[in-house]
Amino acid sequence: MTSVFLNGISKQYPGAKPSVSNLTVTIEDGEFFTLLGPSGCGKSTTLRMVAGFIQPTSGSIHFGDKDVTNTAPNKRDTGMVFQNYALFPHMSVRGNVAYGLDVRGVGRQEKAKRINAALAQVGLEELGDRRIDMLSGGQQQRVALARALVIRPAALLLDEPLSNLDAKLREETRTEIRSTQKAAGTTCLYVTHDQAEAMAMSDRVAVLNAGELHQVASPRVVYNRPATAFVAKFIGRSNVLPCTVLGVDGGSVSVRLADSTVLKAPRVEGTISARVSAGDQAAVSLRPESIALAINPGPEEAGKLTGRVVTAEFTGAVNIYEIDWQGQRIVVSAPDSFDRAEPGDLVAMAPHQDRVWMVEP
Ligand code: ADP
Ligand code: MG
Repeated sequence: MTSVFLNGISKQYPGAKPSVSNLTVTIEDGEFFTLLGPSGCGKSTTLRMVAGFIQPTSGSIHFGDKDVTNTAPNKRDTGMVFQNYALFPHMSVRGNVAYGLDVRGVGRQEKAKRINAALAQVGLEELGDRRIDMLSGGQQQRVALARALVIRPAALLLDEPLSNLDAKLREETRTEIRSTQKAAGTTCLYVTHDQAEAMAMSDRVAVLNAGELHQVASPRVVYNRPATAFVAKFIGRSNVLPCTVLGVDGGSVSVRLADSTVLKAPRVEGTISARVSAGDQAAVSLRPESIALAINPGPEEAGKLTGRVVTAEFTGAVNIYEIDWQGQRIVVSAPDSFDRAEPGDLVAMAPHQDRVWMVEP
């Protein structure tokens, strides 16, 4: 159990753009920390640098107060779970879980005790003698987790460990992994491209795109206060609208949209909203659920973000509308009880006053 400090690490392969650029984050002791981003953004590269399989081009890696940048992988005390589990298919569950202990020369009695404990942690006590190729995907996933936990790692590293499971099992397993990790108190660095998974499991999330860090924050903060346009669109769905800053007063920033609609966004220290001034080009994020619709708006609403419905989709709890506004598509979700709009209808969109959020373009 340890904190993990990534101190400006970069990885660049010859002749390629950097896979990871100057990444600095601290993962607290016992924290469930997730690297989230689209395929190719540098998640696995980062995880492998922490494990020691890949050497950073620059920067350093610290476990607690120990610099491990030049420490061999087997001396770093990390447990790793891979996407394909990397189990020995013809060996038993116990044989697989024993592997890391054998490598470390743990004695017979201690080994049996620790294997039993690890199998209990993941709920596989009954299946210790079963061969891996006789297990379901979900059970194999748990063996991989037990094998990583049995060495009592300082840090548990998981690279998209749920991507081979079907949707329902994935949701169950993510809850199990989270509670197993919390019970063990192990520091956990988790990698996924699935934002819902990251939100459900993590204490904090680091959002990456093209090797660059966009934001590190709790799931609630990355959703409600995305730092950049990329984060706003990648986490859930959002409309990012370009705007011009009109002025700044103590607690808020006034902006003008392309159709002259004026909105106010909160001014929050440490975000782009605290750094802009009148005349700057900026962007605001509006969540689909934070916009109210009025069909066939009267004169008092006209000119306020008016557009035409392009598509209307019934999804059960809500209707999803795509609305053409100034040549841009705005997505709005409205409860089905709302007077339904049809394609071609003229609508006015009223963003909820306290849900307008300024993002870095
Ligand atoms: P992710 O896990 O987020 O999908 P990766 O960390 O695997 O992304 O890859 C990040 C980037 O680094 C990608 O553009 C990938 O093509 C590149 N990359 C990864 N490994 C190598 C390598 N051995 N040689 C060259 N480029 C690589
Ligand atoms: Mg990957």
